[in-house]
Amino acid sequence: MNDQHLNDWSIEEAGPIDRHLAINTLARRLPRAELHSHLAGALHPAQVRELGHGQETHQWGATHDYGGVDHFFSHLMDFAAAFDDAGAVRDATLLVLRSAVDSGCRHVELAVNHSEFDTGGLGLDGVLDAASGAFAQARRLWGLSGGLILAADRGIDPSHGHLAVAAAVAARDRGVPMLGIGNDGVPLSPLTAFAPVYDAARSAGFRTTAHANKPVDVVDVLTLGLDRIDHAWELQGQPHLQAQVRSAGTPVTMALTSCLMMLPGRFPTADSFTFEELRRAGLRVSLNVDDGALFATDSAQEYAFAARTWDWSPQVLGDVAYASLAAAWIDDDREARLAHWRREIDALVADPRMPDRTSIGADPAIRS
Ligand SMILES: [Zn+2]
Repeated sequence: MNDQHLNDWSIEEAGPIDRHLAINTLARRLPRAELHSHLAGALHPAQVRELGHGQETHQWGATHDYGGVDHFFSHLMDFAAAFDDAGAVRDATLLVLRSAVDSGCRHVELAVNHSEFDTGGLGLDGVLDAASGAFAQARRLWGLSGGLILAADRGIDPSHGHLAVAAAVAARDRGVPMLGIGNDGVPLSPLTAFAPVYDAARSAGFRTTAHANKPVDVVDVLTLGLDRIDHAWELQGQPHLQAQVRSAGTPVTMALTSCLMMLPGRFPTADSFTFEELRRAGLRVSLNVDDGALFATDSAQEYAFAARTWDWSPQVLGDVAYASLAAAWIDDDREARLAHWRREIDALVADPRMPDRTSIGADPAIRS
């Protein structure tokens, strides 16, 4: 036998690969968009420690992980207080984006709550500018698109939401990639109380979304005519309401691990979670991390977890990934990018080892 025969692996490498391996590989490689991720909750313990200049006495670090709902909201405020150095915040955001890229993300939208940084030395404008620098670098390095969503705080007077819109307009004027106005925080007021804020957001040219945590929230999102809904697990067992969301074409950004971790009384097992019911009902659902680092997950883990929970085929997983891209707030070359990613997804679904090797930067249909 000569050397040429020794190196002929054509029989050994003939596919398909193991079914579980295929799902795990696709969970990490499929192009996707991350649409529901909070910057403060995306920071890993080492980053938070770094932002806090290694202050060992503070409660960061060992207690960084999730520790209950009340702890969660106060903890995010602690994180935000650590944001006092522009360079460190830019580097930390870039690391968040780098991790997303390594989980298959081609587009990332990071949410920042406008009142979250009141106690931090850098302030909201400084945080937005620093994060903007990270997005610019991520676009240069990896062709990543995306930007920031500034959320009105539901835990305070709704009229303060106008401050979020004003801050978003000012940031956009400074060149920050501001995509939209959201709504998160402790749900003290009805979402409809934010109607004037959303009107102002739309007038300023922003898209709109809101966390829908209570049964009435989905109804309110439809009444307000928002562009997306975050969470919306209360659509479970509500075919009439599901039909309204479907006919409105409103994408729903869901998060599996975060809801299982925060609400085990509501969702004691993964397959009791609402996602699959909505997907099968034809709603535009996407899988997201919410607060990835805080809940010890990332996009690849979410995709693999969901695929295992509902025994998805590679095709279904590819369709879920594509749904996230189709729901993303992309303006530049939108249709060409979607067509490119669809081809890439189809190639990977056919063989997770063999993606379409034409990079998006080399695609003549894509200018920016
Ligand atoms: Zn969220």
